[in-house]
Amino acid sequence: MKWPYENRAGETRRMECDVLVLGGGLAGCYTAIAAARKGQRVILVEKGATERSGAAGSGFDHWESACTNPCSRVTPEEVAQAFIDDKDGYFNGISHYIECREGYDRLLDMETFGGKIRDTQDDFAGAAFRDEKNKFLFAYDYTNRFTLRVWGSTFKPALARECRRLGVTVLDRTEATALLLDRTGAAPCGAGAAAMNTRTGEFLILRAKATVLCMSRPARVWLFHSDLVGLSEFRPTQCIGSGHAMGYRAGLEFVMMEKSVRGEFSAAGRSFPPYSAGNNHNTWYAATMVDARGVDIPYVDRDGRVLKTVDERYRPAPGQKFFLKGGTIDEAAYEVRGPETMDAAALLAQGYQLPFYADLSRMPEMERKVIWGLMVGEEGKTKIPVLKALTDRGFDPEKHRLQSYGSGWQSASFLEQERQLFGAPGGLMNDWDLKTNIDGIYAAGDQLFTGDCCGHAAATGYYAGRKAALRAASLEALPACDEEEAAAEQARLLAPLFRSEGMDWRELNAALAKAMQIYCGGVKNDAFLREGLDLLRTYREDYVPQLSCANPHELMRTHEVLDLLDVCELILNACLLRRAGNTALCFARSDSAEVDPPGDRRFLTLKKEGDRMVSGSCPLDYYGDLKSQYEAHNADYLEEVAHEQA
Ligand SMILES: Cc1cc2nc3c(=O)[nH]c(=O)nc-3n(C[C@H](O)[C@H](O)[C@H](O)COP(=O)(O)OP(=O)(O)OC[C@H]3O[C@@H](n4cnc5c(N)ncnc54)[C@H](O)[C@@H]3O)c2cc1C
Repeated sequence: MKWPYENRAGETRRMECDVLVLGGGLAGCYTAIAAARKGQRVILVEKGATERSGAAGSGFDHWESACTNPCSRVTPEEVAQAFIDDKDGYFNGISHYIECREGYDRLLDMETFGGKIRDTQDDFAGAAFRDEKNKFLFAYDYTNRFTLRVWGSTFKPALARECRRLGVTVLDRTEATALLLDRTGAAPCGAGAAAMNTRTGEFLILRAKATVLCMSRPARVWLFHSDLVGLSEFRPTQCIGSGHAMGYRAGLEFVMMEKSVRGEFSAAGRSFPPYSAGNNHNTWYAATMVDARGVDIPYVDRDGRVLKTVDERYRPAPGQKFFLKGGTIDEAAYEVRGPETMDAAALLAQGYQLPFYADLSRMPEMERKVIWGLMVGEEGKTKIPVLKALTDRGFDPEKHRLQSYGSGWQSASFLEQERQLFGAPGGLMNDWDLKTNIDGIYAAGDQLFTGDCCGHAAATGYYAGRKAALRAASLEALPACDEEEAAAEQARLLAPLFRSEGMDWRELNAALAKAMQIYCGGVKNDAFLREGLDLLRTYREDYVPQLSCANPHELMRTHEVLDLLDVCELILNACLLRRAGNTALCFARSDSAEVDPPGDRRFLTLKKEGDRMVSGSCPLDYYGDLKSQYEAHNADYLEEVAHEQA
């Protein structure tokens, strides 16, 4: 097939800016907006098309932790602390406090950009989850009202418009491939990035005073299906962990990369498309579930009390102030428990019969309508593949039930070695400026450790954008750019294009996934982890030189898998560091009998210096008191907000 774009492989374009944003998802767009509002020249680099790219591109249905909205009955401190406790302390207190503190501010921004956050058509007038004055719709905890139901499919186009309105230079269809460092000073600092146009193959050298990484988290590490690439992961295909890989190569510090969970969702084509099967999790919370005979499967609260009404499913248990739901899904201690948290065996032992179904027909009209039509519809990847596809085929939620498969909401069952970086995984380490260990390089959204949701991505994006803008404003000149390093990167990137026959990127992805299942599966031990590293080395020596591709699109996919190779190495090295089992990190060892020894209750960090791995550790609460630290670092923002409100 003739390639429809110009061939510019071998050509180089140079561009300069104050703040360079890598990744144009929710976090990246908010970063760009914050920096542009501060008067900085901003370049935004996006591998796909900013208008619809990223995990939120096709939509999302709820905005967690809008703790400061006028109807909320919880404080940012309470919710942030609950998040931290829910993960037994292995959580990014800084970024999630920012989420709780500023998440609602970003929603209000969104409304001015044209995103829909209120029930302006009064479709749900009178519903228990609606605030009649503000026209907000709440999800999950209807008493405490800190999670909003939103029309997430309107957000990305609105953000892309706002970026352009503010004069941000948006480079769509451009993959960032490497961080450029200025090594002329006492310590290296960020100098920008190298990138490549994924249609023309043109190479870009992007120089900047500050760089913000917003490229999400790795995927397809343990689970990959070469024929169902789009269904290989919950998150978008283009988010493969390139941001982690380039950070690893540049010497950025990572934390919690030893954490992985047993496959949960939409992986390797093994589950139904997300939210397309009957369940009662997240988007489908709190759907009525029934067994094969149509007998209700009851919800129980935190204390095991069987709930008698639908309304009770949305209320805290007696004596419980509030509950979390809709994002923190791993062993959530604060939630009202629905049937999805009871295992099928326990239900069968009680006499319930398979298969189970979600039965919206038994729910009050407003609850049915808000699940099927708003939540299923606005949630990522549901508008067309689920809502439209099932409606077109005659599904009527007033009459029909939807079958539940596999282990309930996951609509699949995975083996222990089939793992994912799901929920709240590891990522880049950050300080109170959302800065990495290298000056001039910041991070936001899912690329930060335990980044996991839209409110977090938006709030941390905006925050990192204003911190990066401050850094850029403080520098008179651009950091030095190492032309030799850039030229070497260009040669690395183009190499597979000049091999006419060879190995396809899919083969290497499949080989990596298999290697990780075998050597870094559910139970780790040193011998296996080292074997795994050795195997990766042979992949580098034997397979990488054979990789070939036919056009710049395949070249981009090839780069992704090369990045995946680095990500696998990072994970194996991180696993070697943790010497005993750790329940919160879903980390088990066969060569240590110890589980959760008190001395190991620390974050273990890892970075690469040349060919050497450098490890470190810090206390779980390294961020200090959340409220006072936040306020000490953000006097300027607090003043701005107070000024706007006055
Ligand atoms: C199906 C689905 C439903 C969800 N529902 C909800 C929900 O209802 N509520 C909620 O709070 N959260 C939800 N989430 C999670 C939420 O969408 C994400 O946490 C959030 O969007 C992360 O934002 P981000 O900007 O960090 O990453 P992303 O939005 O994924 O953006 C990363 C961007 O980086 C780009 N990129 C990657 N690599 C490169 C590269 N090398 N160069 C240039 N660009 C690159 C990608 O193309 C992408 O646009 C959902 C996620 C999914 C997948």
